[in-house]
Amino acid sequence: MQIATVLSHLESIAPLSYQESYDNAGLLTGQPDWECKGILTTLDTTEAVVSEAAANGCNLIVSHHPLIFSGLKKITGANYVEKAVISAIRQDMAIYAIHTNLDHVPGGVNGRMAECLGLVNTRPLLPLERVLRKLICFVPTANLEQVRQAIFAAGAGHIGHYSECSWAVEGRGTFLGGADTRPFVGKPGLRHEEPEMRLEVILPAWQSGRILRAMIAAHPYEEVAYDLVDLANPHPSVGAGLVGELPEALDERAFLDRLKTVFRTPVIRHTPLSGRPVKTCALCGGAGSSLISNALRANVDFYITADVKYHEFFDANDRLVIADIGHYESEQYTIDLLFDLLREKFPNFAVLKSAIATNPVNYY
Ligand SMILES: [Zn+2]
Repeated sequence: MQIATVLSHLESIAPLSYQESYDNAGLLTGQPDWECKGILTTLDTTEAVVSEAAANGCNLIVSHHPLIFSGLKKITGANYVEKAVISAIRQDMAIYAIHTNLDHVPGGVNGRMAECLGLVNTRPLLPLERVLRKLICFVPTANLEQVRQAIFAAGAGHIGHYSECSWAVEGRGTFLGGADTRPFVGKPGLRHEEPEMRLEVILPAWQSGRILRAMIAAHPYEEVAYDLVDLANPHPSVGAGLVGELPEALDERAFLDRLKTVFRTPVIRHTPLSGRPVKTCALCGGAGSSLISNALRANVDFYITADVKYHEFFDANDRLVIADIGHYESEQYTIDLLFDLLREKFPNFAVLKSAIATNPVNYY
């Protein structure tokens, strides 16, 4: 199996186009056409993790955090990034980062956190925009079903928990084929009028190529008329952070205890408790201060994230409790998540979890 096969599976779950503009998810070292010998999942890629992968016969590291983030101007081994890059290149180690794109998808980093906490009725805190398109095509009435079916099979027509969503209305199309044409109906050089359906479907922008190819392959016309339009609609299930509910309201201190247990942390930095029970919460794995205003707008009781600065805690304004549980702690289950996603797809392949605790933060 080539490394490309592993990557295309991961990108079918967390497309690279879903990453934030500042991010650097994707293949950072190595080549997609290498034969994959084994996969190691980790939160961070350090030199020790590269050695661990090599010692276990793996040549692909799937890491949540991108080792190379803002670019490298020198590779002299002067810091941990350069050291790990040198070690990876020397040992023909591929490093693949699956970062904010994995945060943004359902069942991703935040989805796994919510699952560990037992949250229900989850949805994105800040849905992504400009990731959906509409395909409008014009199909002879008799061929509507075959084209619609092909479009659905290629991945179009999903809205929330509904699939096979489409809309169609009848009209009349005209065309006049030139001398070199072989029209499906009518004759070259004569204007033809044909009863057609205008078929509309919504689709993820990243799947446009595949869906267009399927539509054109199923369509009987020599030249297919269609419109592909960018939508401003927010994606109902893809976005930053997550909002959910506890099945049963909990006392604030009991909830803090649960956070400590679930995320295995000795300390939580938090704003003053409100005295109200906790029923709704928002969360964002890793540094999530930028979503405090979204959590306030979502009217939740708690916002669980990490890397909150002193002045940002004031932004709670006594309207919710901000709980900073630690960056590593909030994202630790991503190692298991990546392992599960790979193991499920490639059950007989060597997939390992890193045993190295890469958290650089200690508590005393
Ligand atoms: Zn992170």
